[in-house]
Amino acid sequence: MRPEIRALSAYHVQEAEGLIKLDAMENPFGWPDELKSAWLERLARVEVNRYPDPEGKELVQVLRHAMAIPRGMEVLLGNGSDEIIQIIAMAVSGPGRTLLSVEPGFVMYRMIATFCGLEYAGVPLREDFSLDLPALLAAIEAHRPAVIFLAYPNNPTGNLFDTTQLQQVIEAAPGLVVIDEAYSPFTDATFMGSLGAFPNLLVMRTLSKLGLAGLRLGYLAGPAEWLAEFHKIRLPYNINVLTQATAAFALTEGGAVLREQTALIRAERARLYEALRAIPGLVPYPSQANFILVRSRPGEAEPLFERLREGGVLVKKLHGGHPLLEDCLRFTVGTAEENGRLLQILGQDSPLG
Ligand SMILES: *Cc1c(COP(=O)(O)O)cnc(C)c1O
Repeated sequence: MRPEIRALSAYHVQEAEGLIKLDAMENPFGWPDELKSAWLERLARVEVNRYPDPEGKELVQVLRHAMAIPRGMEVLLGNGSDEIIQIIAMAVSGPGRTLLSVEPGFVMYRMIATFCGLEYAGVPLREDFSLDLPALLAAIEAHRPAVIFLAYPNNPTGNLFDTTQLQQVIEAAPGLVVIDEAYSPFTDATFMGSLGAFPNLLVMRTLSKLGLAGLRLGYLAGPAEWLAEFHKIRLPYNINVLTQATAAFALTEGGAVLREQTALIRAERARLYEALRAIPGLVPYPSQANFILVRSRPGEAEPLFERLREGGVLVKKLHGGHPLLEDCLRFTVGTAEENGRLLQILGQDSPLG
């Protein structure tokens, strides 16, 4: 076994049985019965005895239209965007080559870099979670990264980085820059329209946060020259027939329902943010995603996490993960009822623990 694999711990998923799940940025809403019946009818026509279309051409056409992917850009599908990160990392890895990102950020960038034998460089954000541009440009100069990943909005902080600063990073980068727009349903900001304007820019998204986390479908858009290389290492049938049919259905027949749900989540995010601000001892950070990062009083993140779990609400504890996340928890925006339960427990002034 490679020593760097031995040194890793497996990605840990918390036990959620019987709990209100506000830990993983899932859409809390199901589908109306009518939509479900139409979906099952569509699935009944899928030929599971046949291999899937290797490139998912029909689904790509639907995505091009639904996600306003610029004409002339190519699309690559992944079994979740995690697989796309892995494909990119495999394509660029080699001795002395670096994947660069910012911290705190999405933990899979570092993990996948390690899986694939890439060096990893994580540049700390500033205390307000904005980019530290001088530090980032210096790290780009020092490491000459083969690829830079930046989540926009960022996970777990929820903020958007400054557009002009991001453009400076893209221009300074000697290799690829992937803007990870996993939270695009919850913000109007995007780099999709900038594809082609920078030869090294790629935009990655997923349907997970939109409401289809169980499907596992991510996509990458960018110039054909790069995507042709990635297609070579994509396993031949990485997106199964059920996922292809369901995603295409969800984005067409289910489009209106999904748009309605994301609008509700955006409205709940605003309501939850204001309610959290009113709770003494909690400082929520403004978010453009479907979660809110919250800082508690020193030493209170752990007892708050436990109190929430005992009250039936599972959230993500970030304290201990990074110095900038001291005393922090992350709450996924749920239904009005779920958020109400969260607020009720947080608002209780019973002694912590
Ligand atoms: C959730 C998330 C992903 C992974 O999404 P999947 O498509 O479910 O693999 C990628 N990037 C960021 C920043 C995320 O938060």
